[in-house]
Amino acid sequence: MNIRRPLIAGNWKMFKTCSEAVETAKHLVTRVDDVTDVDVMIAPAFIALAQVADIVKGSKVSLGAQNLFWEKEGAFTGEISPHMIVSTGCKYVIIGHSERRQFFEETDESVNKKINAAVKNGIEPILCVGESEKERESNETFSVLDKQITKGLQGLFTDNLKHLTIAYEPVWAIGTGKTATDEQAQEVHLFLRSLIEKKLGNKFAESIKILYGGSVKPDNITSLMSMPDIDGALVGGASLDAETFSKIVHFL
Ligand code: PEP
Repeated sequence: MNIRRPLIAGNWKMFKTCSEAVETAKHLVTRVDDVTDVDVMIAPAFIALAQVADIVKGSKVSLGAQNLFWEKEGAFTGEISPHMIVSTGCKYVIIGHSERRQFFEETDESVNKKINAAVKNGIEPILCVGESEKERESNETFSVLDKQITKGLQGLFTDNLKHLTIAYEPVWAIGTGKTATDEQAQEVHLFLRSLIEKKLGNKFAESIKILYGGSVKPDNITSLMSMPDIDGALVGGASLDAETFSKIVHFL
């Protein structure tokens, strides 16, 4: 266990209607009420944010959005602004998830604009980075991550990045049932922390949370969390069920 307070974050992706999201949130709130040493976050779909916000208010569960658009308002059909996200009570926003990079043409440049917009509006960004299977096999993992971090954080400095969290999510481990081994994940987390140290200094690097994501389940979370540079998890599939997610939150 390390000095950083762990964060267990649930990404509900494009699952659950409003009423289903409310039901799951209700179950989760009661199941994690006893938690004291772990931060918990869920990111429902945009349509459910306001209703889930009412359920998690005053509980151990914080709210996150799965994406944002950087403009304040305007003729951007289908987009959601940082300001709107704040108005629903979100504390966090997930930015640069590999599914957005893969299916919705998210680039490091758009990720950078989104991180900027989040920090300007007081929303804590969770920046997702990760290599594909092909990139890992051709020994490009570190160069891919370097590029994603360098471009994603371009022009940002410690003053405005106080609450940045990074999620290392190897694309080959997302929703596939394949998890990086504890050692593989630790190796990359250490690399990311050293990279952040070079860019933003030692103090910042020591305090930044680096989450692991990719088929995290109740039976692999404890050993992942025993690694010195793994500070929590971004959980997709296993966050959809309150009981399963609560077991992950209670990893200690
Ligand atoms: C994710 O969506 O960020 C994720 C890690 O998904 P899963 O846990 O299902 O692999």
